[in-house]
Amino acid sequence: MGRCKRAVGVLAVVALLSLVFAGVGCQQGRQGGGAGHFDYERIELANGLEVITLEDFSCPIVAVQVWYHVGSKDEQPDRQGFAHMFEHMMFRGTDKLGPTDHFGFIRRVGGTTNGYTSFDRTVYLETLPADQLELALWLEAERMAFLKIDQEAFDTERRVVEEERRMGLSEPYGTVFERLLEQIYQVHPYRWPPIGKISHLRAASVQELRDFWTKNYVPSNATLIIVGAVEHEDAQDMARKYFGWIPRYARPPQVDIAEPGANIFFGDYQSTFFGQFQNNTNIYTAVRYSF
Ligand SMILES: [Zn+2]
Repeated sequence: MGRCKRAVGVLAVVALLSLVFAGVGCQQGRQGGGAGHFDYERIELANGLEVITLEDFSCPIVAVQVWYHVGSKDEQPDRQGFAHMFEHMMFRGTDKLGPTDHFGFIRRVGGTTNGYTSFDRTVYLETLPADQLELALWLEAERMAFLKIDQEAFDTERRVVEEERRMGLSEPYGTVFERLLEQIYQVHPYRWPPIGKISHLRAASVQELRDFWTKNYVPSNATLIIVGAVEHEDAQDMARKYFGWIPRYARPPQVDIAEPGANIFFGDYQSTFFGQFQNNTNIYTAVRYSF
């Protein structure tokens, strides 16, 4: 048995070296059946956090994503841009983590990290060596539980967001998208884009931000996705270890505003084909980000 393991270890080293010297990337191997099918496992922790895992040993890396089911449609009409604001704020640290630590720790092990915001969700992602999975889970759990939200962090990131907004506005046809949304939706909060409004953000208080975060960034409103060279059981155990202790909070109420007439563009996401197959969509984007 011991010799077998050793032989496997030698093979792994040879395989790694051949990868290094050949200078090739990883095989984009997929498990499971046909297109769109992934052999994933799904569990739910006692605090409501949904955990989806997918094994893929074609490359010694792992992709981690945390999807918070909060986006621009969950904002107040006079506070547009809060979800996107938190895409930024979530990197500002906790009492243990400084404002550059999240990026710093991930980069130090050769990984990458980022986030994005849409109408329905805000997503944070890391791709890193598989043996560093716990680092990513600790960082994600840390900010899910202890995010620092103060005036300094808000002012700093608001300036970054304002710059992003100005850059978007100065592009050719920079306002077409939001004008289009206003034409399509008169009632539903899909009528404004996730980027936010400078005047709304400048008018917002730190307490309002805290309230938004406390309500929406809870385990029961999130999905953790782990895809890569980690067995289901190990990934699930680590998810329990790092997130399981966080208390359960009520899931925020879902937006159920009906738009009169036909929804010709985005529609009601949850009732669409894509919404019903969201788990596969989650997995797909995680796989995509892992290569
Ligand atoms: Zn941004």
